[in-house]
Amino acid sequence: MNLATSVHTHWDGPGVPSIDPGRGIPFGSSSVQHGTAVFEGIRCYATPEGPAIFRLDDHLERMLNSARLLGIRHAYDLPRLRRSTLRATADSGCADGYVRPGLFAADPVVSIGLTTVPFTLGVEVWPVTTPPPEPPAIPGVRLTVSPWRRPSPQSFPRRAKAVGTYVTSALAKTAAQAAGFDDALQLDCDTGRVAEATTANVFLVTGGRLSTPWLTDNLLAGITRDSVLTLARDLGLEVTEGPVEVAEVHAAQEVFLTGTAGELLPVASLDGRPFAAERPVFDAIATAFRATVTGRAGHPEWRTPVPQREPEPPAGPATP
Ligand code: PMP
Repeated sequence: MNLATSVHTHWDGPGVPSIDPGRGIPFGSSSVQHGTAVFEGIRCYATPEGPAIFRLDDHLERMLNSARLLGIRHAYDLPRLRRSTLRATADSGCADGYVRPGLFAADPVVSIGLTTVPFTLGVEVWPVTTPPPEPPAIPGVRLTVSPWRRPSPQSFPRRAKAVGTYVTSALAKTAAQAAGFDDALQLDCDTGRVAEATTANVFLVTGGRLSTPWLTDNLLAGITRDSVLTLARDLGLEVTEGPVEVAEVHAAQEVFLTGTAGELLPVASLDGRPFAAERPVFDAIATAFRATVTGRAGHPEWRTPVPQREPEPPAGPATP
């Protein structure tokens, strides 16, 4: 996903007066200092009916659940989150955009207590400059297995998409890139089974059947993962969620990653061992996915239209 740098940000109080719109939340915010914030990454796509956000309510419900799991104090319900996110997207003027709502501590308070200050909603919208290539032209990702495992559920609620947990993803990604790979599989902390990639879920195709690590292992319940499970069943594929060992990934005919930002990405190799260049199952699912997100196929319930911006009122006559 290629993003423009001209990000549009929308704040919806409380705490908004302490936010400098040009600089965002203050450096002294606990969310900045300690990673105590929750967020979502969502995609808006140009469709024949105008811009539409993909699985908006599912993302916002996951953010509310992340906030509940952390026990942060905030004043937002689903309708207000939906209104603000749609307004930010409409105001940005983007048809193709990457939309990031997040709940942040907006006040500079030196405390890590999550109920000390109310959390404030900010929504960033990044224009997506070039659409990703269509399958089968999508380049493959070279994966390794990371020494950095997903945090244990005894250390962190595994269903929460919180800012601080991305340090472990960053460590794994950086180590993988330093070793000449693009990304890494991270293992479940306790079982040593495959959990997910650093910012994406993982799927295998073995003997024509699709499988993905079950949510019992320590992974984010990806919304793209859920969409792929549904689209694969729509295509008549046999689909299972279960425990996945690293050896099973090596044995698969096709492997691919799923996430909102990267969408569906084929895996070219794992630790230098290549997968077949032909990816018929990936190509079929990725084609169905792109047709769905861009409004050229079914599941209209997954697309929320972005209301058009109100036109600026005409300038009135000059008052004497
Ligand atoms: N796992 C992790 C760790 C992620 O950061 C993401 C991206 N949100 C995913 C999986 C994929 O989730 P989704 O499909 O909801 O973007």
